[in-house]
Amino acid sequence: MLASAHFLLNEPWKSGAQAQKVVQATLHVDARGGLLVHYCEDSGESARKARAVFRPDGYAERLSHVSLDELAARGFLGIIVDLDNTLVGYGQDHLAFEDAAWIATARARDFRICLVSNNFNDRVLRIGAQLGVPAIASALKPLPRGFAAALRLLGTAKPQTVVVGDQLFTDVLGAKLSGLHSILTEPLVAHDWLGTRLLRLLERVLLGRKSG
Ligand SMILES: [Mg+2]
Repeated sequence: MLASAHFLLNEPWKSGAQAQKVVQATLHVDARGGLLVHYCEDSGESARKARAVFRPDGYAERLSHVSLDELAARGFLGIIVDLDNTLVGYGQDHLAFEDAAWIATARARDFRICLVSNNFNDRVLRIGAQLGVPAIASALKPLPRGFAAALRLLGTAKPQTVVVGDQLFTDVLGAKLSGLHSILTEPLVAHDWLGTRLLRLLERVLLGRKSG
């Protein structure tokens, strides 16, 4: 089904007069109820497509701010959680109380959780074991392989599964490529490895942020 209409698109990551603008948007709803949005503004065609691909479905300041009530109301059963800078600071083992409590509450509410990380060391599996949830290391996000493995572990269908992570180029793009809902969080700490820091520069361009 295709529909075309004018929308007042809210872009909360922009400030002031740029926060809202009227754009021409084309919506495509696929057979599974998935919604694709292609919108046009004053930049080039390729930039418009890139921004649509990298647009997360939702935002949360941090993992513990993701509303479990809202996820349940929308029919989500599975939650794929990024590790570094989403659940713990980069290279760290320690979880903040509120994030550990969020995981425990989600499990108590019968959400199925899987950690999916591009990090390759056993710290990924250790933190998963501490939390009582499965974990996938060396996931090579945004490639679909790690997400497919997570779906098998969770036993959830794609429309029932949400990805929560702090990076557009791994978590959000990976979710899009795998047909999963995505929620972008703020990175917990500023320090990342060099490759991630370079990607964050590109993220700021795509999100229209002047500084990080
Ligand atoms: Mg991360």
